[in-house]
Amino acid sequence: CPYLALHVTPAIPVIGALLFIFVMSALFRTSFSDPGVIPRATPDEAAYIEKQIEVPNNGNSKTYRPPPRTKEVLIRGQPVKLKYCFTCKIFRPPRASHCSLCDNCVERFDHHCPWVGNCVGRRNYRYFYAFIVSLAFLCVFIFVCAVTHIIMLTKDNKPFLEAVKLSPSSVIVGVVCFFSVWSILGLAGFHTYLTSSNQTTNED
Ligand SMILES: [Zn+2]
Ligand SMILES: [Zn+2]
Repeated sequence: CPYLALHVTPAIPVIGALLFIFVMSALFRTSFSDPGVIPRATPDEAAYIEKQIEVPNNGNSKTYRPPPRTKEVLIRGQPVKLKYCFTCKIFRPPRASHCSLCDNCVERFDHHCPWVGNCVGRRNYRYFYAFIVSLAFLCVFIFVCAVTHIIMLTKDNKPFLEAVKLSPSSVIVGVVCFFSVWSILGLAGFHTYLTSSNQTTNED
């Protein structure tokens, strides 16, 4: 960074710092915000729903009642099946799913991200998307800077090994970026495809 700031432009550390701050704030926003948890039924609501479920099967047999799992509702004239969540005691809305790690139903559930340490759903998907896209930019930016540094050192009529010895950190950073950038670019591309086709990871 000091080398490039001196020999190329002082904008490099500024751009790097701004990108880094943006990436970290998007990460924290994703991690610490509510992904769209659907509140569980209160004991009264749960009792009411269970009573409703019981009615149609009441006459046939009292010993065995298969657990009802779905309920059909009409959305814009289309019948949609709502699944019943036995943990939250609610019929969850379409596109919602129960996350076993967070132990909550999450609206427009995308996936549970272990790296971010939170579910990704309706309320924090935009921050998650901003995070991976900006991270892809940051990774490419750092890789280009590291490669530029090594190339500029070898252009001062120094052999390649001499340049590596002068700045081993650039080589390490370049190698780390080279191997991590593919998965990050792939993930950013995958989520760009998902958002453009109005799908979640779960649905895909
Ligand atoms: Zn649930
Ligand atoms: Zn989760």
